[in-house]
Amino acid sequence: MKSDIKALIRPNILALSPYSTARDEYKGKIGVFLDANESPFENGYNRYPDPRQLTLKKRLSEIKRLPIENMFIGNGSDEAIDLMFRIFCIPGEDNAIAIAPSYGMYEVSAAINDVEMRKVLLNRDFSLPTDALLKAADSNSKLLFICSPNNPTGNSFEVDEILTLVKKFDGIVVVDEAYIDFSNKESLTGKLSDYPNLVVLQTMSKAWGMAGLRCGLAFASKEIIDYMNMVKYPYNINLSTIEKVTKLLDEPLDEHVNTIKVERENMSRRLKDFEFVKEVYPSDSNFILFKSDDGDALYNYLIGREIIVRNRSRVALCENCLRLTIGTPEENKRVIEALENYK
Ligand SMILES: *Cc1c(COP(=O)(O)O)cnc(C)c1O
Repeated sequence: MKSDIKALIRPNILALSPYSTARDEYKGKIGVFLDANESPFENGYNRYPDPRQLTLKKRLSEIKRLPIENMFIGNGSDEAIDLMFRIFCIPGEDNAIAIAPSYGMYEVSAAINDVEMRKVLLNRDFSLPTDALLKAADSNSKLLFICSPNNPTGNSFEVDEILTLVKKFDGIVVVDEAYIDFSNKESLTGKLSDYPNLVVLQTMSKAWGMAGLRCGLAFASKEIIDYMNMVKYPYNINLSTIEKVTKLLDEPLDEHVNTIKVERENMSRRLKDFEFVKEVYPSDSNFILFKSDDGDALYNYLIGREIIVRNRSRVALCENCLRLTIGTPEENKRVIEALENYK
């Protein structure tokens, strides 16, 4: 573990003087706003949004029980992933490490930023290859991505195993908890004060049901959060999203999450009964990865029944596997009926 985060930051980012928005410079009471070249005619959206998203952060801070200074809000988790590369990785020189198979955006974001991505295959049972991940690292390895619960395998890793990596890796460990609300395992956000090199990603897109609003969260030390805020676009979260997310956060989460969990166990049990289903992997998320005798054939059959799932057949360790998102009870029934009529 490197406690000196500054030593990991790209020199150009260390030297950056960020864009100062019109309203950053004066904090007193103002009645007439003629500083930002906005339209003065009220339509609900004629003013720029708060670049620090303070009202939304206050609400999230209560829900997540974490201080505002340890929280970043992005245009989806994808923005936070991209910021990791832009803040920590010198293009053409530094590298990042990720488990495989995992979420595709780590690799895409690395490629866009001209950063080498070293993918380390999970063990055959989808457990964490701790030693191989550490062995893949050299002095230019700045980021290590661990997705838990992992997409597309659905399983989560033991907190202690992840923390071993956080301790032993000499760069930033990014733990992507997009599916944490569907898991019985604890979030790593409780460990942030012990590990200055830990970044935890969460999102409003899955359990919270706000994929269309584009709102992702990152939690980390104040030092890392300050760099993220410095590098992001000043108005990365639009006013409509700030308002709508704030409102939807009042809707309770548990009922929908519990329904998904019950449906997931149901679906898992039903899938195991089909002869063409060779393996159903345990899931801590809102989807199930399962192996059939012919992944492409089953995928195409389901398309013919107007049901689309994610074909992961050609992904290493996922040969002939499909990833099925848990839908409403009615939708899940439709899937089972379709499968009953297959072959
Ligand atoms: C869906 C998903 C996300 C969410 O991304 P957003 O940009 O916040 O919608 C993040 N990580 C993983 C692993 C996901 O599967």
